[in-house]
Amino acid sequence: MAEPARIRPAAGVRFDLGVETLIVGAGAAGLVAALAAHEAGQEALVIEADAAPAGSTALSAGLIPAAGTALQRAAGIADDAALFAADIQAKAKGENDPALVDLLARGSARAIDWLAGRHGLPFSVVDDFDYPGHSRRRMHGLPSRSGRELVDRLRAACEEAGIDIVCNRRAETLFTEDDLIRGVALRAPDGAVETIGCARLILACNGFGGSPALVARHMPQIAGALWFGHDGNRGDALHWGEALGAGLAHLGAYQGHGNVAHPHGILITWAVITEGGVQVNLSGQRFWDESQGYSEAARAVLSQPEGQAWTIFDARIAAIARQFADFRAAEAQGAIRTAGTLAELAEVTGLPAEALRASLAARGAPDRFGRIFSKPPLAPPFCAVRVTGALFHTQGGLQVDDQARVLHADGRPFANLHAAGGAACGVSGSADAGYLSGNGLLAAVVLGRIAGAAGR
Ligand SMILES: Cc1cc2nc3c(=O)[nH]c(=O)nc-3n(C[C@H](O)[C@H](O)[C@H](O)COP(=O)(O)OP(=O)(O)OC[C@H]3O[C@@H](n4cnc5c(N)ncnc54)[C@H](O)[C@@H]3O)c2cc1C
Repeated sequence: MAEPARIRPAAGVRFDLGVETLIVGAGAAGLVAALAAHEAGQEALVIEADAAPAGSTALSAGLIPAAGTALQRAAGIADDAALFAADIQAKAKGENDPALVDLLARGSARAIDWLAGRHGLPFSVVDDFDYPGHSRRRMHGLPSRSGRELVDRLRAACEEAGIDIVCNRRAETLFTEDDLIRGVALRAPDGAVETIGCARLILACNGFGGSPALVARHMPQIAGALWFGHDGNRGDALHWGEALGAGLAHLGAYQGHGNVAHPHGILITWAVITEGGVQVNLSGQRFWDESQGYSEAARAVLSQPEGQAWTIFDARIAAIARQFADFRAAEAQGAIRTAGTLAELAEVTGLPAEALRASLAARGAPDRFGRIFSKPPLAPPFCAVRVTGALFHTQGGLQVDDQARVLHADGRPFANLHAAGGAACGVSGSADAGYLSGNGLLAAVVLGRIAGAAGR
């Protein structure tokens, strides 16, 4: 079947129905945008390709960084947008657009306070371990620490507000007139096509990690790695943006993760590293400074023999990691091995005992990779999980202004086209090492809220 045209003239099209604000994608960005648009008095409709809202949001840990929230104040954590912005820029070595960084950092507390206060999302601050690069404890998560809970609660909030979410409809074609988006053609699973006219359009359909061809073109260094995000995110926003002459930036930027249990395919929280755990390759040898971050860990692990490593930690750290539903699932599936002694650890992992002993003993300040250990040394009983590296989501995309309006390549905004979440260019620099924990959902909830509230 020939590919449908991505952009077509609106002239002569009689839309099947019309709506004020049309939102493509029902992940965090789309659902937050819908709530904000509704609150601003607009009639909002969300369309979603899948049978139910999920997206990469549902696969995530659902942790959202925010600076200066009511929850942080209650926990005695002094934080502000300027500090947060500085952390984002430091991780990305200053490669981000400073205006976008400020917009996200400034909007973060407002978004969390609003979701908690107005929509009843029961966030709490993760206050028992640090994420690399964050100078304050500012990760906000729901009780299960899972993105499934985040998307389910956002969907429930939309339902309560009476916002329609129409599933099983994939947006294929945008109808344009001059510089305006007039509507969208959607395809149902049975092939039927319907059209919806709109006064404005919000693209919340994430990036292109689900398109192997686009990944190979823009980020060849991670092409072929395990794809751990949502398959339906095939780069539609990027294709539309290219066809419309939109500004695109940092298409080589992505979040990887080097701590995915193998072969179980379960995310193991990076807390096991920040609390003092280490990674060794299949010869039992350390190979890098793990404290740099989990995104760049994907390449570090994939460059080792068989593209695998063992992450070694202990029972104290496992108790902290257990707050994550994913970690509990990994334990239930037998991915986490335990051992009372180093000799037993060598046995259950199959790693050479001497190399393992030497790797765990070497904790200089800093060690030969430059890592500084500030947590207690690992102590029995030990834990170990075999891991590999994976691609989680792309971070480049459409350039937007302070109202989340998509920009033309020359910097002029489109009057009625917005982008949020992974559809928009994020704040993770130009490659993998610029990703500061939580940059993904930060762009989803803050830009989603701004895009939803804009317009009219
Ligand atoms: C395992 C994992 C863990 C993560 N953990 C975290 C974390 O703890 N904190 C964090 O900040 N980030 C995390 N991330 C990243 C985070 O999940 C994403 O950045 C975020 O979910 C993006 O939200 P979104 O709404 O833009 O996209 P999504 O949640 O992916 O939603 C996009 C939706 O658009 C739909 N769609 C796509 N194309 C179309 C179309 N043409 N028509 C109709 N619908 C369409 C998709 O089906 C999908 O439902 C993680 C990612 C993964 C994979």
